[in-house]
This record gives sequence, structure tokens and C-alpha cells, in this order.
Amino acid sequence: MMVERFFAQTYDEARSKFLAAAQARGLGIERHVHPKALGPMSEPLTIDTALFSPPQAQSLVIVTSGVHGVEGFCGSGCQIGLLYDDALFTRLTAANVALLFVHAVNPHGFAHVRRVNEDNVDLNRNSVDFAEAASANPAYLEVDPLLLPPDWPPSAANQLALQHYIATRGEKALQDAATMGQYRVADGMFYGGAEPCWSTLQMREIVSRHGAGMSRLVWIDVHTGLGAYGHGEKLFASPDPAELERAIRTWGADVRPISAPGSVSSVVKGDLIGIAYALPSDIEKTCITLEFGTLAPMAVLQALRADHWLYRHPQRGAAQAAGIRQALRDAFFCDVPEWKGMVHAQTRMAVLQAVARFSG
Ligand SMILES: [Zn+2]
Repeated sequence: MMVERFFAQTYDEARSKFLAAAQARGLGIERHVHPKALGPMSEPLTIDTALFSPPQAQSLVIVTSGVHGVEGFCGSGCQIGLLYDDALFTRLTAANVALLFVHAVNPHGFAHVRRVNEDNVDLNRNSVDFAEAASANPAYLEVDPLLLPPDWPPSAANQLALQHYIATRGEKALQDAATMGQYRVADGMFYGGAEPCWSTLQMREIVSRHGAGMSRLVWIDVHTGLGAYGHGEKLFASPDPAELERAIRTWGADVRPISAPGSVSSVVKGDLIGIAYALPSDIEKTCITLEFGTLAPMAVLQALRADHWLYRHPQRGAAQAAGIRQALRDAFFCDVPEWKGMVHAQTRMAVLQAVARFSG
């Protein structure tokens, strides 16, 4: 299949392909080098941006990948596919719309195959008031020892205790407690950090600079790991009803507020896309997370538990570590042509729909 070539097997390969595609398109490229973290081969880690900007563009579409590290295998491939898309750039030129790609927002997680960053921080729980967040989600303290037992694979006793929790409280309660975000257990799951991390600060600067002077901004943040296999759930987090109405007009009636019943996501605080709202209020913002399904929810959770267990027990054997890394990658990136075709086509559609609204 044609889209296969857009996707990579490593962060380094993804980055090279992204830069080559952006250069071939003649776009302005920026490189934001991580000040201290390195990749597994001691390679530098960067957030790279590529900007297509027709003169006097008043509308900007942002497409971001790799906010959750390992999920960048998907978002990167989608971005690279868009960069080679002549029809898209013809439409952008005709509609006078700028397009900004931000590649590998969390390059350390992407390169080391983790969902979190170099400090175990979930970037989508990091844009908060930390004084207020400190007491958030007390239920996490109860589930931490269930999710991250001393031994891996989990003992029979641990499995029974977790089954008991689900049987008495429900799977949704477990998902909420585990994933809503917590600020007390720095080596735990879905940890939001104690201060804005490097990627968050870079993104604030990138978004405020490129958003300045625009009238309208659309931000599509590509993620994986929740929902039906290959389906792009359009997660909407803003409390603004006018923005929801715009999002539905842009992407269709299946735009789903994360607070709505049946949403694949728990209601989370501190998502990165929220930094768009720091831009001046006269800039119209329409933001969605495009969340592509991979494996069943409990399989994804299991892979995440193992990853965090390994983070707590780094001295364990290389073979077990490699198995855990591979399982995590498989939980967030379905490395088969059909899935890549599905995610690429839906990301392309979401961008074209945004351009179409700006043309109308
Ligand atoms: Zn994600």
C-alpha cells in the first residue's frame, strides 16, 4: 500500500522522513533541541516544525504528533503523508490557509518508546495550576499498588485484587482513577509533573508565535490507544458551546465532548491543546484530539502497567525489558498496512474539512 512508506520504525527514522518531506515541500523548518535528554543511540532529541504559510494567511491549521511519545509512530506517518499531498497544498493555497506541523512534541517518549516524557510526565496532564492540582484524584493512591505490583507479570493475588476492584467499582472507575491524572506519585501512572515541562514550554512558545495575528486557529492533535480499531474518535475538551458547534460544523456530528456519556476518554485536566486558549480571545479557536483505536482497553492498560513497572524496576533483565517495550509499541501503533491506511485517510480528511470550512 502507498501509505506504508510514510511510517517509520524508530523516532530517528520518523524525524528524518519528516524533515525530508518538509524540505521537498519547500517549507520553513524549525528545530527545537532538547537541552539534556538524548535518544537510545545518544542521538539528539528535537521537536521539529514545518510551516506552510501563504502571504497574508488569516487562518492557521496546526497538526501535532507524539504528545504521548510512542503514539508518534501514528501521528508522524500521518503528517508525512500530508506533506506529500499535492491536492492538500493546492487547497491550502486557494483558501489562503497556513498549515503548521509539529513533529514529536514528546521526542524522548517517542525515541524510547514510552507514552510519558523523560521525567515520567504525561504531557496531557501537565498544563495545570500545580498548587490546585496537588490534591487532585485521591483515588489514584488506592489503585497505584494494584496497577503497579512489586512483581511483573502480576501475581495471582494481584490479579484477584484488581478483578475485585473492577467487580465492585466498575471498569470506568478504574479507568478514571488511573488515567485522570495525578500529582503525588512521581514514578506512578498518568503523572502530571510538578512544573511545566520542556515540551509544554516549547509548545506554548510555538503556538503563541504562530497563532499571533491569525483570525482563526484549528488544532488537530493526533493520538492513539483509545476506541475502536482504526477509528478516529474526535475528542472535544473545550467547555465553550460555540466552539463545539463550530467543531461539529467542521468535522461532523460525531465530534464527541469527553464529558459526554460513552466517551472513550476520562475527563482529564491539563491537556496540552488547552494552551491554545492562552491566545488572545479575538482569535477563533477550534481544537480536537483525533484518537485512533488500537487494541482493547484492558490490553492497552496492561501494556502501560508493564511500562511503568519497568520504570520502577529498571534493573530487570534486558529480555523482559525488550518484551515490555515491544508490547507498549504494539498497544499504541498497529504496524500493519490496513491500520496505517485507516489513520492516514482520517487525518487527511480532518485537515481537508478544516480547510473547507475556512474556504466557505
Ligand atoms: Zn495520547
